[in-house]
Amino acid sequence: MSGLEKDLDAQVRILAAVYGFRRYHTYRSKRSPAGFPDLVLVKPPRLIFAELKSDDGRTTADQDEWLADLGRVPAAETYVWRPGDLELIAEILAGRSPAYVVRKFSMAIPATDRAIQEAEQEFELVMGMKPEEFDRRLSEEARGLP
Ligand SMILES: [Mg+2]
Repeated sequence: MSGLEKDLDAQVRILAAVYGFRRYHTYRSKRSPAGFPDLVLVKPPRLIFAELKSDDGRTTADQDEWLADLGRVPAAETYVWRPGDLELIAEILAGRSPAYVVRKFSMAIPATDRAIQEAEQEFELVMGMKPEEFDRRLSEEARGLP
């Protein structure tokens, strides 16, 4: 873990506590199988696997394979989180992120383009706006715009 990843880990640790997640983190992965995500966060029924990276850090092939397989487990959410994602991470843990909501709606069915499209329509119906619009408003609010 780089210094930036350590800072991010400390920040996510606080957010996880704020939003009531149980957190597991492997401190020394040297003798463990390669590529398992840095963080496991649990708050039933949610189960999150997150790989922490610096803003320009790249995932390894082993990490990609773990995330891909875990991501195919219906209940599991998988993410690659970077220092620049902190607001998004908070929204995801709060259960308010469009990415999470869309995923939740499409969880029961394989994430085909059609399923994602349907989930986005469902999101619009429930939230009264498209996911992109919701995202835009969130980031404007975060910047303090009206
Ligand atoms: Mg990492």
